[in-house]
Amino acid sequence: MIIAIDGPAGSGKSTIAKMLAKKLGFTYIDTGAMYRAVALKVKNSGIDPDSEKDVVELMKKTNIQLLNSDGSVKVLLDGKDVSNLIRTEEIGKTASQIARHPQVRKVLVQMQREMGKKAVNAVIEGRDTGTVIFPDADLKIFLTASPEERAERRYRELKEKGLNVTYQQILKEVKERDYLDETRKDSPLRPADDAVVIDTTGKTLQQVFEEILALVNRKLNF
Ligand code: C5P
Repeated sequence: MIIAIDGPAGSGKSTIAKMLAKKLGFTYIDTGAMYRAVALKVKNSGIDPDSEKDVVELMKKTNIQLLNSDGSVKVLLDGKDVSNLIRTEEIGKTASQIARHPQVRKVLVQMQREMGKKAVNAVIEGRDTGTVIFPDADLKIFLTASPEERAERRYRELKEKGLNVTYQQILKEVKERDYLDETRKDSPLRPADDAVVIDTTGKTLQQVFEEILALVNRKLNF
């Protein structure tokens, strides 16, 4: 069974996808982490993220692995654990830049499909999982929330980590990232026609989780 979870930055899709994978014992595939890993390598190499050709060349010499163990996931870039290094706002922004290149997407989408098929049962999370990677997914969820609420969540998360950020700055970044993701020509962020759209504004994580679990159970019972 493949469950695809899409949605914009800060919609809660990562947390929900992880909770779901853990509860169901499914493999969790974080597609955003793969874009972020490429972005980190791009940054470290000093090449221009807007140059599709250079990024693709670099990817030929790059190895990305997602390791699932005990409900936690490690991201390995050329064998090195970069799970924390890829979580900065800066890398998120670079990830959105490189994600606009069709050739970059082609390579990563191919890898993601293979990972999903190999896993057999997977929760796959990202911005094009239901539309492009697994258009035949058994269940497609599109999580959303207002930009203000998503910025608020991100702000709290970063503050808890002790980072020095302002709400206004995060809101601006959330809107910028939405713009980049929604306007790119290749696989723009949008719900698949057959996705269940859940607006999480004003809902707790637990409420959203239970709503999705009910959908999964319905699927499993029919
Ligand atoms: O989900 P996350 O914030 O980790 O993703 C980082 C960036 O990678 C996104 O802003 C998006 O531009 C890109 N991405 C994508 N397609 C995916 C996953 C992520 O374009 N399936």
